[in-house]
Amino acid sequence: MKDTLKHQGLRNKLINMLINKGIKDPEVLAAMQKIPRHLFMDSSFEAFAYQDKAFPIAADQTISQPYTVAFQSELLNLKQGSKVLEIGTGSGYQTAVLLELKAKVFTIERQRELYKKTKLFLPKLNYKPKKLIFGDGYKGLAEEAPFDGIIVTAGAPFVPKPLLSQLKIGGRLVIPVGDETQIMTLLKRKSAKEFEKHEFGDFRFVPMLKKKN
Ligand code: SAH
Repeated sequence: MKDTLKHQGLRNKLINMLINKGIKDPEVLAAMQKIPRHLFMDSSFEAFAYQDKAFPIAADQTISQPYTVAFQSELLNLKQGSKVLEIGTGSGYQTAVLLELKAKVFTIERQRELYKKTKLFLPKLNYKPKKLIFGDGYKGLAEEAPFDGIIVTAGAPFVPKPLLSQLKIGGRLVIPVGDETQIMTLLKRKSAKEFEKHEFGDFRFVPMLKKKN
């Protein structure tokens, strides 16, 4: 569990790469500058941890590409103390970014193996989400709603209704929608019934899994 000067140097390069690709939010960049991404991955990938690429984690899932993490985090536009729900805890890397942005984080993972692993791992780096839950992201987390932000980190075949209804007025849902490739979609809640939709480029995520019966 070491974070060396070499890792920090590679991270600086990664941050410059993200800036060159168009990421602007200084708080998102500072958060990613701080987080030792290599510790969220299998040690066999350590040498590549600061490339702008997704890598396999357990249970056939992936840690998202840094650019994707930065892009989604920027779209959420969180303030200090914002309440945010993450669907797809995975390695916990995106969770750590949200925590560095000083949000109150609730996160749900659908694969038990990953849930267990990440629940033990995050506190070792002093990352403490309000809740890290094993469950089905299609349902959101009604008992903690409403949220300022909801971020989905798996490819969703459609926008699950509960996620829309669990947003505050003025809140934002950031969700990649599609099957083979996904369109990054931002839905802003304008009123009880109105949502404003913005679409960004194509991304590629592992699919959001249906609930097992
Ligand atoms: N944020 C993670 C991304 C992991 S990939 C990271 O950066 O590491 C997407 C994750 O979503 C996987 O861990 C997958 O198991 C999880 N997932 C897929 N379908 C889900 C669902 N219905 N509810 C909650 N999590 C889900």
